[in-house]
Amino acid sequence: MQDVRNAPVEISTGIFEISLPLPARPSSVNIYLLDCGSGWVLVDTGMNTPQSLAALESSLETVGCRFQDIKLIIATHHHPDHFGASSYLRERTGATVYIHAKDAARAQRLVSIASTPITQRPESLAFFRKHGFPIDRYPPELMRPSWMGTAAYQPMLDPDGFLEDNLQLEVGTRLLRIVWTPGHSPGHCVIYLEREKILIAGDHLLPKITPHVGLYPEDEGNPLREFLNSLQKIQNLDVQLVLPAHGPVFRDHRGRARQLIEHHRVRKQKMLNVLKERPCSAFEVAHAVFGDEERPVFHTMAATFETLAHLELACAKGEALKVEKNGQIIYQSA
Ligand SMILES: [Zn+2]
Repeated sequence: MQDVRNAPVEISTGIFEISLPLPARPSSVNIYLLDCGSGWVLVDTGMNTPQSLAALESSLETVGCRFQDIKLIIATHHHPDHFGASSYLRERTGATVYIHAKDAARAQRLVSIASTPITQRPESLAFFRKHGFPIDRYPPELMRPSWMGTAAYQPMLDPDGFLEDNLQLEVGTRLLRIVWTPGHSPGHCVIYLEREKILIAGDHLLPKITPHVGLYPEDEGNPLREFLNSLQKIQNLDVQLVLPAHGPVFRDHRGRARQLIEHHRVRKQKMLNVLKERPCSAFEVAHAVFGDEERPVFHTMAATFETLAHLELACAKGEALKVEKNGQIIYQSA
């Protein structure tokens, strides 16, 4: 019997949502298949797991699209649930694969990091220590997401082309406009179908959850500032339907963008309040704001990375200060 959750849904004429399983929460990712008359476009790939590939295969069959009918694969960003099966699908379809150059570089970085045990990456460990993360308490193998270095993440490391802001891709009857929306990842892009007034949003705009925005070891820039700017930017588009990578299709992209901006304003205020009590490391601020319930080590780390993104933006805006003390970065009220 076919699992109904995996039945593709025709959201709009010739635009199909395919839900693929993920091993952890969120438990599924939506990828989108577009009938362009003379060929198909696939937005995102799902993970490279047997379960996901089987679900994709049966969905394509239901829709009536053969693998070789897919002419173009676009990845909104480099994360495993979006780009993990790109190598396999490139082989299987012969399609052209596009991703933003910054995310192609991230995929390469992840693959190279995965090939070295974390204990042999002194720069990562120094970063964790500097921000107050008690690394001695945690087994190193739990400090990485479980998919890292496994078959579930097999990104295409030499994509055929790079996405960039305002790139127009004409495929058969459709015109796809790429809008660069950095924040969740540095090269995150959304796909705007102007004629259909549809926005394929990747993880930039999700109806129920807040996309993770974090500052990681070896990162440059200010990802939270970029994310907030990208939330302003997409409000300029005329959109009737948002197709997110997680959760149901929704309307009112502007309302959701404003909610996410407000969410981050409130969270920032909580962090600044913590600093008003006493100067803290990023880990301590994360602990105070996100709570101390038991959770996987990687989530504790992600909370610290997210806190760091906030603190760095607050410092850049003069709302907080940072000082280095005994090899640790301490944040304090401005
Ligand atoms: Zn993502």
